[in-house]
Amino acid sequence: MTDTRQDPTGEPQAKPRLAARARGLVRPLGVGLVVAVAAVLAGLEAWEAIAVYLVFAIGLLVWPTGREASRARARARSTSVAAHHSGFALIEALDLPTIVFDRETQVVHQNLSARTLIGDFPQRAALSARIRSPVILDLVARVVARGIPESIEHSERVPSERWHEVRVAPVNPAAEPARRLYVMTFRDMTEARRMDRMRTDFVANASHELRTPLASLMGFIETMQGPARGDEKARDQFFGIMLEQAQRMARLIDDLLSLSRLEMRAHVAPEGSVDLGKTVTHVVDTLKPMADDLGIVIELSLPEAPAVVTGDVDELIQVFSNLVENACKYGQSGKRVEILVTRPEGEGPLVTVRDFGPGIPKEHVPRLTERFYRVDVETSRTKKGTGLGLAIVKHILTRHRARLIIKSVPGEGSSFTVKFSPAETARTDAIKEIYK
Ligand code: ADP
Repeated sequence: MTDTRQDPTGEPQAKPRLAARARGLVRPLGVGLVVAVAAVLAGLEAWEAIAVYLVFAIGLLVWPTGREASRARARARSTSVAAHHSGFALIEALDLPTIVFDRETQVVHQNLSARTLIGDFPQRAALSARIRSPVILDLVARVVARGIPESIEHSERVPSERWHEVRVAPVNPAAEPARRLYVMTFRDMTEARRMDRMRTDFVANASHELRTPLASLMGFIETMQGPARGDEKARDQFFGIMLEQAQRMARLIDDLLSLSRLEMRAHVAPEGSVDLGKTVTHVVDTLKPMADDLGIVIELSLPEAPAVVTGDVDELIQVFSNLVENACKYGQSGKRVEILVTRPEGEGPLVTVRDFGPGIPKEHVPRLTERFYRVDVETSRTKKGTGLGLAIVKHILTRHRARLIIKSVPGEGSSFTVKFSPAETARTDAIKEIYK
């Protein structure tokens, strides 16, 4: 590509030096002279000998120039082809989808990434054979007309929402128009845009969640200052509601802080050693009063040998508390919650929390770990949920290189399984061996 740009017409920049030129003249003039002398000796007239001399000298002068010129042309052709080939090889090696096209917008080359993104262009097909977006085709027309690089941001919703920065630039703007090439690249901005949207949604959601209890608190304060001033009975009732709303705000702030702390430590692997059986037993003991209040029996099943993983015990307590609390809250109608800790052969330990409540409709399952995502906002609020519990669980498990598997059958209940990776267990077993 660089060669093509520096030498857009493909013609070499010949710079013969003076000495080389002089050397070039010696041979034709010398040979011409020898032939002329031979002609005189052979008995030709002087003017005939001069004519022979001139014919030979001029012939020999012109012939090498023509030969040199055709050699130069061949050299230029091969340089230009090599430049294109090395350019195409370079483009092929890029993971940035790239298409090279000419002035007629016919595709000259597309790399593998472009083929994956857009599909294969038939030979010498125009860009419009596969690129239908009028915005991109307008961009191409503008760059071809003006010769100035330009880029636009392009989004498409089908088959999935994606954003690209599409850039079109001339490759060899100084070349004669028929030989000009252009390059089109697609930079994937999907992840960046998704993160932007998540950030804005998150701030909007968090503000909304805080605003609701705050508005309620302000309302009650105003009522007590105004119409309900001096009403002892109303004041007691209002204080109760105000306390609930303040507690809701506190829970939300705690969860938000938890999330931000986890994000800060996302790339730091936990180092402690956690006995899953003991941790889950501790969680069940802590939540038993709540389960009793809701009329739920918690059944716990532990493996014979301890299941130990590398982890942060406080964070894992937070995970299991959240899952058991949710099972009790949302699966209350099932009256029973099962917790199973197992160590399958050759795999990492599993902790399954299962309830027998109403279950979760299929379409909600993949989104449950999104921040503030709730199947039913009102039910979550009445059950003192913040919508951040499973997002926190997912963050903690990612840090522990563990996975959350959610299964649910509407009408039968749900199961939330934490699957630790075998590597984490093996490492812990090794540590135990050393310190035994
Ligand atoms: P919340 O604070 O609302 O409980 P979570 O992130 O813990 O937030 O859970 C998100 C949503 O997932 C809940 O609002 C609820 O709709 C649903 N959910 C979680 N666990 C269960 C369960 N065991 N049974 C039914 N629905 C559940």
